[in-house]
Amino acid sequence: MTVNVRIAPSPTGNLHIGTARTALFNWLFARHHGGQFILRIEDTDLERSKKEYETNIIEGLQWLGLDWDNEHIIRQTERLPVYRAYLERLLESGSAFWREYSDEEKADMERDGRTARDRVIALTPPTDSEREIAFDDVIRGRVAVRAQHVGQVVLAKDLDTPLYNFAVVVDDLDMEITHVIRGEDHISNTPKQLLIYEALQATPPVFAHLPLILGPDRSKMSKRHGATNIADYQTDYLPEALVSFMGQLGYTYDAELLDMRAMAEQFDLSRVHTSGAVFDQQKLNWTNAQYLKRLPSETFKVLIGKPDLPDAAVPLMTERLERLTDIAQFSYFWEEPEYEGALLAWKDDALETTRGALELCAQLAESGELTQAALDAAAADRFAGKKGSIYWPLRVALSGRQNSAGPLDIAAVIGPEQVRTRIANALKKLV
Ligand code: GLU
Repeated sequence: MTVNVRIAPSPTGNLHIGTARTALFNWLFARHHGGQFILRIEDTDLERSKKEYETNIIEGLQWLGLDWDNEHIIRQTERLPVYRAYLERLLESGSAFWREYSDEEKADMERDGRTARDRVIALTPPTDSEREIAFDDVIRGRVAVRAQHVGQVVLAKDLDTPLYNFAVVVDDLDMEITHVIRGEDHISNTPKQLLIYEALQATPPVFAHLPLILGPDRSKMSKRHGATNIADYQTDYLPEALVSFMGQLGYTYDAELLDMRAMAEQFDLSRVHTSGAVFDQQKLNWTNAQYLKRLPSETFKVLIGKPDLPDAAVPLMTERLERLTDIAQFSYFWEEPEYEGALLAWKDDALETTRGALELCAQLAESGELTQAALDAAAADRFAGKKGSIYWPLRVALSGRQNSAGPLDIAAVIGPEQVRTRIANALKKLV
């Protein structure tokens, strides 16, 4: 089977998580069948399209690893003569006509804040208004609507200003797109587009409408549920984690963590779920944590901007890390901590007890004997068996935090000199 698919974002906003997920499904389908995945920028809306959005979309797709097969990015604004030729053809054959607006209609447009125009190019409506316009959606099955309910199909504002439904059909035809895989929010456009294919005497592609991404309350995913711009995920998540997660929004694989190749191997368009896919932030965080653990130490250290950190610190961090920006909680691995002296005392230990514990730790560190055995023995001999009395102040002295990697693990990473400095600083705080 020949497969040509496309992602056709409009650069009227940053790369949306929904568009990224649609791009991924198209990519998977193309790769599964050894077909072509095309990137086409639908920038015919001159007022709302912006170059910065186009850049954001392109960079977002690249970051995710969704490589496209067209050498040059296709922009609709660079294809205006093509649409013009098609429009002229339709006007000549009588399949389209200049639809004149009445004064009343123009007044309505102005009231709605739209520019009133005298006329547009519209598709000549089907003669039989009862006729069924139908298609077999690979995911949703048969979708049918009566011609009278399709409404007027406006093709262009004028010969040089095509509108979405028309430009998309011309492009999908010209680029020999075999399968249109897009969000369910476009399903009401499909009958209009089918009428355009018919007017052009062309065979339409196969359609597959993906279920929407929903928030936890099952309403359409929006900013209220979390970030919708891919750019906002880049600081916190690994692209492979986001890809694995997005690929499972509306599809069930035989594993929970999958790279793109593994997904592509299994991908079957007809197995995409029909119902909405709930965006589960915790699942995304978990997925990210798994991919962070898998990173080679060197890669991880470069990623967090600490290439010189000892390797021993890496598992201590990835063991607990979900989002990359949470790395700040481990700053004690690379800088002396700041904290209040009051934090040093374990439960209701007296100042002297805490001082005694830290002085002991200082001695052990000095003689290179800061070990679990030595600390446990000291707790038994001198602190009535209360390990907290010694481990707690040591933890705080080394990390400045109540929750941290184990104090001896920290000591191993920061080295004896830093251990001595930090214990000395802690003792100064005990007044
Ligand atoms: N430009 C449309 C969008 O951004 C593309 C829809 C389609 O795939 O046909 O939603």
